[in-house]
Amino acid sequence: MNIQMVDLKSQYQKIQNEIDKAVLSAIRNAAYINGPEVKSFQKDLEQYTGVAHVVPCANGTDALQIALMALDLQPGDEVIVPAFTYVASAEVIGLLRLTPVMVDVDYDTFNISVKNVEKGLSSKTKAIIPVHLFGQSCDMTSIMDFAKSNDLYVIEDNAQAMGAYYQFSDRSRKQTGTVGHVGCTSFFPTKNLACYGDGGAMMSNDETLAQKLRMIASHGQSVKYHHEMLGCNSRLDTLQAAVLRVKLKYLDEYSSARYRAAQNYNELLKDVNDIVLPYEAPYSSHVYHQYTVKINDVEKRDSLKSFLRENGIPSMIYYPLPMNEQKAFQNITRKGEDLTVSEKLAKSVLSLPMHTELTVDEQIFIADKIKQFFKAK
Ligand SMILES: *Cc1c(COP(=O)(O)O)cnc(C)c1O
Repeated sequence: MNIQMVDLKSQYQKIQNEIDKAVLSAIRNAAYINGPEVKSFQKDLEQYTGVAHVVPCANGTDALQIALMALDLQPGDEVIVPAFTYVASAEVIGLLRLTPVMVDVDYDTFNISVKNVEKGLSSKTKAIIPVHLFGQSCDMTSIMDFAKSNDLYVIEDNAQAMGAYYQFSDRSRKQTGTVGHVGCTSFFPTKNLACYGDGGAMMSNDETLAQKLRMIASHGQSVKYHHEMLGCNSRLDTLQAAVLRVKLKYLDEYSSARYRAAQNYNELLKDVNDIVLPYEAPYSSHVYHQYTVKINDVEKRDSLKSFLRENGIPSMIYYPLPMNEQKAFQNITRKGEDLTVSEKLAKSVLSLPMHTELTVDEQIFIADKIKQFFKAK
């Protein structure tokens, strides 16, 4: 058995003919920068997500940075972000000389909710970055209501949740990343919708904002060599767009495969009292970017990880340090928030192998080893 955290090779082999054809055709067309595939992918993604405007860019971090740049914030303005996230969500705030205000997340969902966001609010708060961590939406109705009454922008970090939807109380649904003012995503190879290198996109239903995002991503110009503002150079590569056009067609199938694998884990691990299985929120679908369990006795987390590795099973700690404990943020955040849940999660989480090609036999083996570990203790 060759268990992998993510199996990109097998996934590629299943669609190899289509991918090879699309990439070769893009190479032969020789429109390497902003080739027709980029525009086509933009249209495809608009159709898939139901959002009015998709603005492709070079990667997910750029997407977040450009989204913040488009809001015309002033140095010292505050942006609320979860402490328990990937660094990019918080990093871009600091890079723009804005102040990241880290708030705690809910133990069950790993996501921020309004009760945490409220605690971070001040007269300087201008925006919130909800991160749909591990493939599940934040509770967007309450976040959007809170944002509206406090005049805040909402930039969704949807890098881990492409293909998931948020369900409103009237049971209508929207794709994650299309609920806030701007949604940002990454097409990094291991994400749910991924290419074979770097890529990213922003999504917005606001035409004026979308135009601005597009301008900033292109050196602040909408007419070539006429620069209306400072921007950057952030483009989705034509070859990657060709790959993404093929892979977008399989996204729902991939989400289902991940979901099935998660249900298998749930069934196989349901009697293991030493760990807490992932929680599925009633207002969101879950696309299981990660299948992340919590180890009740935090002292055993690292030895479980080693035990699994000795048995040929990879696992990962997403994330070992909350942002408030990162050196990079020590002098730029506003301190004082209670971040005990984030700090506890960093010590107790373990993500198990999760990808579209995981087999039931592999999962049975993984579950058996986890049970064996806790029995022996
Ligand atoms: C991957 C990721 C990003 C950044 O995407 P890149 O394409 O690697 O720049 C941002 N936020 C979250 C939550 C991510 O998982």
